Amino acid sequence: MLLGILKETAPGETRVALLPESLKSLIAQGIAITVESGAGLAAGASDRDYVDAGAIITTNRASLLASADLLPLVNAPSAGDQSGLKPGVVVIGFLKPLDAPHALAAAIARPTTLFSMELVPRISRAQSMDALSSMATVAGYKAVIAAADRLPRLFPMLMTAAGTIPPARVFVIGAGVAGLQAIATARRLGAVVEAYDVRAAAGEQVRSLGAKFLDVDLGGISAEGGGGYAAELTEEALDRGRDLITRTAAHSDVIVTTAQVPGRPAPRLIRRAAIEAMRPGSVLVDLAAPAGGNCELTKPGIEQTIKGVVLLAPLNLPAEVPVHASQLYARNILNFLALIVKKGELSVDLADEVLAGACVAHNGTPVNPRVAKLLEVATTG
Ligand code: NAD
Repeated sequence: MLLGILKETAPGETRVALLPESLKSLIAQGIAITVESGAGLAAGASDRDYVDAGAIITTNRASLLASADLLPLVNAPSAGDQSGLKPGVVVIGFLKPLDAPHALAAAIARPTTLFSMELVPRISRAQSMDALSSMATVAGYKAVIAAADRLPRLFPMLMTAAGTIPPARVFVIGAGVAGLQAIATARRLGAVVEAYDVRAAAGEQVRSLGAKFLDVDLGGISAEGGGGYAAELTEEALDRGRDLITRTAAHSDVIVTTAQVPGRPAPRLIRRAAIEAMRPGSVLVDLAAPAGGNCELTKPGIEQTIKGVVLLAPLNLPAEVPVHASQLYARNILNFLALIVKKGELSVDLADEVLAGACVAHNGTPVNPRVAKLLEVATTG
């Protein structure tokens, strides 16, 4: 069996799906590994490192695509790459099956088996494969570093002979995986941190990091969705959050916003008035930009300055920390591979709930009912 490691082609992508350190257990099972030249360069892994780990290097991407039986990727393959895939190949990556299912149609038809890292169920057995959490951790950290870099102020309180400088005030909206990492990072830099989330359960975690949790009375509406996620709120309940956010923005130097509801556009929580209430020079990082953004002024991927307030809307912050983002992702991928590769052979058992949950299509047939519906294809299973 041949496993291929490709150089990612999405603009700005620097991560790689597997690092040389990940290959040992695969090679020990007799799996041949071919790496596209330069695949790991931005993530600190040279072609020589892969060769030393037992892989072969190729500059011929098309022939690697045509011969690989197993393709762990970071991003979904491009349309051109999809048409060159070996029929029967198993592809694993952030495939965006719910956002852009039609973009996978050519791959499904080869036929292929596709697993999406976004769809790995968040159950305890699959925690070591939870790539969304890995990337959210990196993004939450980097969002605060980016804000600190842009802020014309210091983060920590400083008591100097020239006087005392007060600490920066950071407001984190959405205290999930990315938000909690943003809180921890801002606290380490010495900021005073406040945080808001609709899930009351987040309060304890926020307080344990030394931040203040801001509660909103949602008028008895339950904000808890399934699996520890938030539910989509009514406009009236959202408005209560928006009012709190506008009030808190007025005394915040930095806002990092991360609020998301799975499978839905990001809730619009930050009004223009909140941005205009901030001091010029303040920074807002909208980590929900890939899902449309939490701020009504956000333009995904575009940096703006609005009345002196810098609004960042990054689409791929983990790619700005390629070494550790790749390291975490590669470990998630390796743990996932352990479910589908037994003694060097592919063995896909969709009775396993982790595989069934993550499977977009198996041998050319859509498996995930939501994806199948989006593709307007009837599921056979
Ligand atoms: P996410 O990215 O979907 O959302 C980020 C945060 O935004 C969440 O905390 C959510 O409550 C919040 N949010 C949504 N709508 C909001 C609104 N209108 N106002 C304010 N905040 C809003 O979530 P995530 O970070 O991926 O994870 C969220 C939850 O899932 C957490 O409870 C986390 O502990 C849990 N989780 C469990 C596992 C596991 O069991 N393996 C893994 C990861 C996360």
